[in-house]
This record gives sequence, C-alpha cells and structure tokens, in this order.
Amino acid sequence: MRKSGGGAGWWVKELNGVLDLFFPAACPLCLVPLRGASSPFCSACSATISPLPAGHCSCCALPFASTTGSSHLCADCLRRRPVYTTVSAAGLYGGALKIAVQRFKYAGSVDLDRPLGQLLLARLPDLSGDETIIPVPLHPARLRQRGYNQSLLLARVLAHKLRFPLEHSLLQRNIDGHSQQGLSAKARAINLASAFSAQGPLQGRSFLLIDDVMTTGATVGACTTALLKAGATAVRVAVVARAPRHSTA
Ligand SMILES: [Zn+2]
Ligand SMILES: [Zn+2]
Repeated sequence: MRKSGGGAGWWVKELNGVLDLFFPAACPLCLVPLRGASSPFCSACSATISPLPAGHCSCCALPFASTTGSSHLCADCLRRRPVYTTVSAAGLYGGALKIAVQRFKYAGSVDLDRPLGQLLLARLPDLSGDETIIPVPLHPARLRQRGYNQSLLLARVLAHKLRFPLEHSLLQRNIDGHSQQGLSAKARAINLASAFSAQGPLQGRSFLLIDDVMTTGATVGACTTALLKAGATAVRVAVVARAPRHSTA
C-alpha cells in the first residue's frame, strides 16, 4: 500500500492524470482537446487573441493605430491624466477574446472565469503585494437579472492566484449603466461621476480594480474617483480586453 505521507494529494493527482487521459481538458470556446497546451485556449483560438501592440498608451493602454512604436501617453491622457495609475489588459477586444468575454458576460458561461483570469494574470505588471483586489460592481438590479457579477468572478480568480485580499462590498454602484442610454455624453459623464461610491476610510490602501472590458475608461475612472475620495492611495486597473474608443463594447 502506498504511504500517505503526502496527505490525500497523491491520489487526487493520480485521479486527475487518469481523467486527463480519458477526458482531456478541452478548449473552453471550441471544445477541441487541449492535450497539455500551456494556454487556457486551444492554439487555433489563441492565434486570434492579440496582445496589446507595442504602441499603446502607457497609462490607459489605448492601442495606437500604428503597429510599430513604443508605449507613451495618448493625446487624451496627455491633456488630462486619468485618476487611475495604469491599465493592464490580457489583450485586444477581438477574436476569441471578444467571443469569450461576451459568453462570460451575457451567456452565463461562468466557467470562463479561470481561463480569462489566467490570461489576465500573465499580463499583470509587477505588483507591490500591498494591493487589494476589487471588482467593478454591478448595480443590484443588474446583479439580480444576470445572477452574477463577471468582474467579481475574475477578481476571485486573481485574488486566489496572487493570494491578495479581495474586497467585494466596499465599492457600490448606485446608478445602472442602462439608465444612461439616451443621455448626452455630458449628461452621461455627470451621471457616471455619481454612479459609484466607496465606504472609507481607505487611507494608505492601494487597489487593483478588475473589469472585463475597457472602452472609454469612464467606468473604471468613476470607480477610481470613488475609491480615491474615500482615501485610497492609488488604483491600478486590470481588464481582460481593451477596446479602441470607437468600439461598442
Ligand atoms: Zn479553441
Ligand atoms: Zn491614454
């Protein structure tokens, strides 16, 4: 009989090995067997996922039109520096990443939390280790309708992998995004500024704010403002997909 010195872990490992043999892990998008692939998606799906190009804004991660070039501030960030420190993204909003995010967000495919979290984790910058992970909250009415907050699912994966603390209730959304429809851009901006509130005091605390897609940056900006108002020291943003500003993510 095998020694049980390593606890129950050895047989769980062996069982997983046997299961992999007969039921190999599949690509969560196209269900092709992965067979030891290092990426959470198969090679065909992964080939359609584009990382941020070398030329992107060093603050808001906006991809520049030119495929070559270095990272520097975009015109908007030069004109008015965003309240958050930086934005990290697993990739551009397109290809398999767009399909995965849409299924994750709108089609109840909550099991995409780990594959997407894994992609994002690989693109995170060096963190100080003092950050608290915090998801962009959903309005309670939207949460009831959808049944889950996709950003919280991602935040849980990251907090678990990084062993960072997770806060999921100190930031609240007071105005639903859909109530913004039909408003002018100016009215939307004013509305969004009061859409989030954070419970303080947060003095001396830094946050890693998690969202699925970033387009204009208005939502993560409003969340950051609420956290800073409550005393937070700094907020970094991490999103699965960065969309260009003209996109309708
Ligand atoms: Zn695939
Ligand atoms: Zn920028």
